[in-house]
Amino acid sequence: MHPPECSSAAQDSARRPDAQARSDSLRAYLLLGLVCLAIFAVEGWHEWTRRESQLQEVQTASANLAHSILQEAEGAIAAADAALVGIVDRLEADGTGPEAMARLGGLMAAASANQPQLRGFSVDDRDGKRLLSSVPNQTLSVSNADRPYFQHHRADPGRGPFLGPPVRSRRNGDWLLTISRRVEDRQGQFAGVALTSIASASVAQIYSTFDVGREGSITLVHTNGMIMSRHPFDDSVIGRILPMVPSLAERGPAGQFRVVSAIDGVSRLVAYRRSERFPILVTVSAGTDEALAAWLRGARFRMVSVLAVTGVILVLGLRLIAQLRRRRQAERVLAQSEAQFRMLAEHASDMVSRVGADGLRRYASPAAKRLLGMDAEKLVGRRPEENIHPQDRPEFEAAVASLGEGQEQAGLTYRARRGDGAEIWIESTLRLVRDPRTGAPDGYVGISRDVTVSRAMEAKLAELAATDGLTGIANRRHFDDELVMEWRRAARSSKPLAVMLLDVDHFKRFNDLYGHPAGDDCLRSVASAIAATIRRPGDRAARYGGEEFAAILPSTDLAGARDVAERVRAAIQALAIRHEGSEAGVVTGSIGVAAVVPGAKAAPEISALLGTADAALYEAKREGRNRVACMPVPDASEAGLDSHPASPRVPPDSKAL
Ligand code: GH3
Ligand code: MG
Ligand code: MG
Repeated sequence: MHPPECSSAAQDSARRPDAQARSDSLRAYLLLGLVCLAIFAVEGWHEWTRRESQLQEVQTASANLAHSILQEAEGAIAAADAALVGIVDRLEADGTGPEAMARLGGLMAAASANQPQLRGFSVDDRDGKRLLSSVPNQTLSVSNADRPYFQHHRADPGRGPFLGPPVRSRRNGDWLLTISRRVEDRQGQFAGVALTSIASASVAQIYSTFDVGREGSITLVHTNGMIMSRHPFDDSVIGRILPMVPSLAERGPAGQFRVVSAIDGVSRLVAYRRSERFPILVTVSAGTDEALAAWLRGARFRMVSVLAVTGVILVLGLRLIAQLRRRRQAERVLAQSEAQFRMLAEHASDMVSRVGADGLRRYASPAAKRLLGMDAEKLVGRRPEENIHPQDRPEFEAAVASLGEGQEQAGLTYRARRGDGAEIWIESTLRLVRDPRTGAPDGYVGISRDVTVSRAMEAKLAELAATDGLTGIANRRHFDDELVMEWRRAARSSKPLAVMLLDVDHFKRFNDLYGHPAGDDCLRSVASAIAATIRRPGDRAARYGGEEFAAILPSTDLAGARDVAERVRAAIQALAIRHEGSEAGVVTGSIGVAAVVPGAKAAPEISALLGTADAALYEAKREGRNRVACMPVPDASEAGLDSHPASPRVPPDSKAL
């Protein structure tokens, strides 16, 4: 009705699924992205946790190592200090006489032997001059007044042990760590220093027995920040100040931190331990990269695996989305075409129905209301045969059966009963439907229309074609067809068949006397008289042409036909139509009769029957008109014609007779 509105509505409804499909795809992509992201996030968090616990593990090991190294150092210092206490005690009690010195030398030698890691023990006098030493090859004349330990004790009256800053050996330049104590005379005045030392390198040598990796280090530091020894040993760093150490020492007895080394620029994990007894601190460090190397190897492998898995998920997901999109597209196209086809079916004036393989209607278009007077919905689930006239059902069933047997289409016309009880003629075209997947037959689609009116017109036309316009009885064409049919029937049943030819006498004169219209009226009356006279079922009269009439008399022999002809003749005369030009004074007719048994041996042909009747008519005319003449039909053999008794000898065009 409103095409622009309809089309814009259709476009709208087409656009809506498009937008819907786009937003669906977007959501699917988003979901896929989120899944991948979630996998990365979870795996990343796991890796971070693993990394942290790896670092923690290394730092715990470092802290433990620092603790045991510090304990070792404290023990060694305490042992050395104990020996120093003995030496100081002896010096202060016995003085520095030659005898006392000899005894002290023996004591120092024994202490040195007890602690071989030490370089030996020495004693300096109040001027710094070395009095005694257990260190081999020691030069005694040298003054040690410049040494930090000497200056410390001279200035500080404290009697505890003193861990001095590293000093260079005068003999070979090695770094030495010193532990010393103040010696006093009887008046409590400074009287000298007793000391022992250890080479910084020897300490480092001991530390080297612990595995701290290539980037790791173990450092012995004074609480004032001065490096006393370090593994790996580097002569140039001994005595350097680590500025952060004093604050560390104040922070607590133990701790951990990460730092980029001021010495070699390497990032390290550091654990430290401060001594409660001596002003020293041990740090153990491990290279961060080294600590993480094992984790990194595993992490790389895991990351590659996660990437691979995510890649696979991504590829599969994208393929799935693409597939879903294609399917949606196909569904949309299908829905559109389905809607179009439905629209066509619903707006068609013919009824469209879909019948399944089970013979039940699955769909009927709204035209059902007009065609069958029933709602389409009520027809669904029912058999089409229900509405078909019982006599026409076999034909319908045969048409349906033919579809399953290789035929794609079948057409037929049948009678059907409408909902209101009226009978109508329906013409249906049935088209086979195949399962799109298997190709197997799956019912059919029927298109049906009401042909009641055209059927009636056809019947009327057929009747008109067979009727003579003037008289209303059958015409010659119909007569010829009927004669062929009757001939065959008679041949099958071996019954006689008679024909009668009638010619109105002196009809030319009648026309001349009374005019043509009167002639026509006369012919009509004669036709009625003939038709009224031959009344047996199967008898048929026809206007053969002009003023000639013919009749077929089935199952009638020559004698019977003669009687009928006689009655006809009498009936025409009895019409008493005035005819001045005729001997009888009224209209009369002459009749020629012939009969034959078409099924008999050596039976003649139709032409012979008609020819004989014509000859008899001629005879009747010749004998004076208004009479009946009979003639037997000569046998085919007598007539010199071919004889084929088994088959009716019907000429292809009997109208030519
Ligand atoms: P016969 O007795 O020998 O049959 O003489 P006839 O005059 O009937 O013979 P003929 O065949 O010479 O004439 C037939 C006439 O019938 C000729 C024609 O004028 C007339 N006729 C034929 N058809 C019609 C018709 O349809 N209407 C009328 N009024 N006359 C017809
Ligand atoms: Mg004639
Ligand atoms: Mg005539």
